[in-house]
Amino acid sequence: MEIVKTGRNRARTSLPACDATGVRAAAAILLLMVLVLAGCARPPPRTATTPKPPVPCLSQPDDGTFAACLNTELNQIWDREFRATGGRYTEARLTVGEERTEDGGPDRAFYRPRSGVHLPTRYLDAVHNAHGPVAQVVLTFTMAHESGHHVQFLLHPRTGATVNEREAQADCYAGVWARKEAEAGGLDIERFRAATNAEMDRLSTYPDETATHGGPDQRLVSLDKGLRSGNPATCDVGQLTWG
Ligand SMILES: [Zn+2]
Repeated sequence: MEIVKTGRNRARTSLPACDATGVRAAAAILLLMVLVLAGCARPPPRTATTPKPPVPCLSQPDDGTFAACLNTELNQIWDREFRATGGRYTEARLTVGEERTEDGGPDRAFYRPRSGVHLPTRYLDAVHNAHGPVAQVVLTFTMAHESGHHVQFLLHPRTGATVNEREAQADCYAGVWARKEAEAGGLDIERFRAATNAEMDRLSTYPDETATHGGPDQRLVSLDKGLRSGNPATCDVGQLTWG
């Protein structure tokens, strides 16, 4: 009899959680576990107000990953624009850092309908040497302009526009894209415009550049037209003034 009694006493002493308070706590924990398992205690869904980090492509470590990132953003904006007007957008290809040739290779970015946007090594080197820490902001304009030629090719494949008109139109499309990208929180327009102006000044020192693309002041007029409107229709050749 004593052994049994001792056992009961020990049990009572070694399990203090079995008093009334302990039972309620254990019941609450059990209820919580049941709710979690039943999916009733899920955290609330995230709202859509999470801010987008500004200019994410500029944090990329090198020109290759930067250009690939920016190309995605360019394509996303233009794809949305084309869809909004019932059009169909196809992405432009991108080539970054082409092999140097005996004469140094191309010294400027360019676009070809078949092969897309090209950022040759010699051009990238020149941009980094001239613009240092804002080189990739400059390249943002460069890619927006070359993508503007792609948009031009898709919208007006057999245009009779002059070289000057085509270049001004690409600048205008670059402005349209920048406006949309800024509205999405991915671009600081003032920083973009300042870097663009600096690159236009640099390019104007090339002998044939002003004859084909216009001087920096003319080019900014076309860019600003797109920046203000955010509407590709305002870049139609008949809508732009030259000279
Ligand atoms: Zn061009």
